[in-house]
Amino acid sequence: MHENFSLKPYNTFGVDANARYFTEVHSIEELIEALNNPDTQTLPLLFIGGGSNILLTKDFDGLAIKLNLKGIHTDPINENEFWVTAKSGENWHEFVMFCLNNNFGGLENLSLIPGNVGTSPIQNIGAYGTEIKDVFVNCTVLNLENLQLETFDLKQCKFGYRDSVFKQEGKGKYVILDVTFRLTHRIHHIKTEYGAIQSELENLGIQNPTIQDVSRAVINIRQSKLPDPKEIGNAGSFFKNPTIPLVQFKELKQKFENIQGYPNGDFVKVPAGWLIEQCGWKGKQIGNVASHKLQSLVIINATGNATGKEIFDFSTEIINSVKEKFGIELEREVNII
Ligand SMILES: Cc1cc2nc3c(=O)[nH]c(=O)nc-3n(C[C@H](O)[C@H](O)[C@H](O)COP(=O)(O)OP(=O)(O)OC[C@H]3O[C@@H](n4cnc5c(N)ncnc54)[C@H](O)[C@@H]3O)c2cc1C
Repeated sequence: MHENFSLKPYNTFGVDANARYFTEVHSIEELIEALNNPDTQTLPLLFIGGGSNILLTKDFDGLAIKLNLKGIHTDPINENEFWVTAKSGENWHEFVMFCLNNNFGGLENLSLIPGNVGTSPIQNIGAYGTEIKDVFVNCTVLNLENLQLETFDLKQCKFGYRDSVFKQEGKGKYVILDVTFRLTHRIHHIKTEYGAIQSELENLGIQNPTIQDVSRAVINIRQSKLPDPKEIGNAGSFFKNPTIPLVQFKELKQKFENIQGYPNGDFVKVPAGWLIEQCGWKGKQIGNVASHKLQSLVIINATGNATGKEIFDFSTEIINSVKEKFGIELEREVNII
């Protein structure tokens, strides 16, 4: 166990905040041992996967536990489907690559999302028309109240847009230890209609794409649009796309005719990036923090020296200006610590 340990290498914003205590665990036994340590037992806990969806706004006065449980196994279910299980510490993109190398389909549209497998259910990670809920079977969790193992199935996870039980009533109560997905093995469902996948496949000269081709297209698009956290600190989309009542959307459309929206019943999902851009934030920098020049939804640690508080305050200014101009309250997607 380390004391006063810098978490800078453990968060993709590259914020330099300390944890009072820090340890890494590689198995359930090591995790339970760390949780039972009498020196830290009463302190708040922070679980860290890839650190790509956290903003450390101050030093963490508790025990930070980096989850490094590794392993993947596969079970055939029928002629065309496998259950593929990965432990929480597996890197998400490497896991997707493992699946593609073994011709397991269903996760290719989620290529290159940073973070770990164990965190993927927390916000039901999604991109390019796919969310993990589409192929999720269950996950094993450790209940922090009684240190017993439990299994959460699809229904119990209550997945929504960037949401699950683990962000709501189950928040802080469970550690996810492994996740099982139901993946195709021979006949795949290729999804190319979302975003620029189709045009990228055309650029690559591919007419009948395989799951591997779709992954390549997604990787190319993501690399051209999103800043690489290894080069510039960020946590991807900082805000969720807000969902507003249809009536409010119609009123806004009269005032701002270019506003885009994706209807869903009596509600409309509005791209947060567009709202932020309209308020003049795209590429704007204040001190060490900026909104990315290509994607205003991404807040970056522009100088590498930003504190978590500076990033948080910058995000508050964005929220205030969007609220003032459009009457829409943006919600942060990133977990504020
Ligand atoms: C460049 C970039 C692009 C991104 N693009 C997308 C995208 O397209 N779609 C998308 O959905 N997300 C995207 N994200 C966000 C991020 O990749 C996901 O939210 C990812 O699932 C976070 O995983 P992580 O392991 O890094 O989580 P961390 O940041 O380590 O943790 C996030 C939260 O989960 C908790 N936690 C971590 N592991 C566990 C566990 N095993 N059990 C219980 N709690 C745990 C942490 O305490 C924290 O509160 C992007 C991020 C970046 C930097």
